[in-house]
Amino acid sequence: MKKLKPGDNLSPRPELFEAFIKLAQYIVRLKSKQDMLEHVGKFIAVHFPADWVAFVKPDDKGNVIITHCIPQSSSLTEAILSGDIRNIIANVLESGFLASDIIHAPGPYMAAFLPVYEENNPEKVMLIGHKGESPVSKELLDIYLAIAGLVGATSERLKSESELNRHRAHLEEIVEERTAELSRAKAELERSNKDLEQFAYAASHDLREPLRIIAGFVQLLSRRYKGKLDADADEYIGFIVDGANRMSNLINDLLAYSRVAAAAPVKKISGNAALENALANLRAAIEENSASVTHSLLPEVYFNENRLAQIFQNLIGNAIKFHGDEPPRIHVCAEAAGGHWCFAVSDNGIGIAREQADRIFEIFQRLHGMDKYPGTGIGLALCKRIIESRGGRIWVEPGPGRGSVFYFTVPKGAPE
Ligand code: ADP
Repeated sequence: MKKLKPGDNLSPRPELFEAFIKLAQYIVRLKSKQDMLEHVGKFIAVHFPADWVAFVKPDDKGNVIITHCIPQSSSLTEAILSGDIRNIIANVLESGFLASDIIHAPGPYMAAFLPVYEENNPEKVMLIGHKGESPVSKELLDIYLAIAGLVGATSERLKSESELNRHRAHLEEIVEERTAELSRAKAELERSNKDLEQFAYAASHDLREPLRIIAGFVQLLSRRYKGKLDADADEYIGFIVDGANRMSNLINDLLAYSRVAAAAPVKKISGNAALENALANLRAAIEENSASVTHSLLPEVYFNENRLAQIFQNLIGNAIKFHGDEPPRIHVCAEAAGGHWCFAVSDNGIGIAREQADRIFEIFQRLHGMDKYPGTGIGLALCKRIIESRGGRIWVEPGPGRGSVFYFTVPKGAPE
């Protein structure tokens, strides 16, 4: 057969071919299998020289049943289900070959039995009946076979579509369930966090008073009786004073940490002013350690002024505390990064191993013993909490050469 070119004139097209094209265009728009069989049957009965169309298939028990018959007629369905015809249908279903035979219902019909394949199996048979006993032309049979192919392919498509829809609906159900579970868990977490915060706040607040009494009296004891009791007693009193001081630091830090849960007023503040506040609080440590703290011009940000100062104080305080052999040199700067300001606090201190870089932001996580570097392990967790509550993030990277650089971001826009 010669290959056609796009410009070749195909008209006049034979009427049967025309009807087949119409059916093909029509069938792709159908949405359900039931609908499709019904409509295809009617379409054939109207547009083709057929007098009736029926679809038959085996039921669960293997009996042949008629799923659609157009037009509906009890004498026709009876004739289709009669012994001989049922055998032909069973044969076509088994072999997948086309057959034709005469059906007496009540006048004789010449019927074509066309296998409809789904997923490579003859799933059903399309019967097309024509009045009279003369055989159906080869051309018409070819077109019927093509229609049976179209019906099979469309059935497969509709089946996959409906399976897909079922899976999609199931998936949506799962997503909905999970979302509900998640929001329940989130609410539960929020509630228990709140409880915990209230507990931490109440506990640290209530502990302050008895601790103040212990510290006060033990200092009194130390002043009055130092050197008057034996050497052991002096040492023990020293331990108590030391322990009371540490506990007081811990309680103050815990209290500061639990206070972050409460919202603090945010306004446009100067980064430089917050840094100056922090440096004023750190004056003694800076002088003691001959530290030099430099900074570039810092931007204005939407933040709570005390909290930004608290962050600088913790980061610079650590940079001084964890210094190396040389006097601490600390530099603070900031630059724009998309919708954020990115601040950097760099030092020339002992540095932090990369594998510890995440751990140090967790509460009570310290990399050194108390004897070497005092501290509570709360400072960085507090910074992280403040920064995240403002929509930013904090991390640390090794400094160029030595030391560390702590980065934190602050959204440029005002919080909602
Ligand atoms: P603290 O300073 O009270 O121990 P932090 O939460 O502020 O607690 O810091 C946690 C740990 O991170 C510190 O114990 C220290 O090991 C490490 N760290 C923090 N800042 C620095 C720094 N600038 N250089 C080296 N190590 C640091």
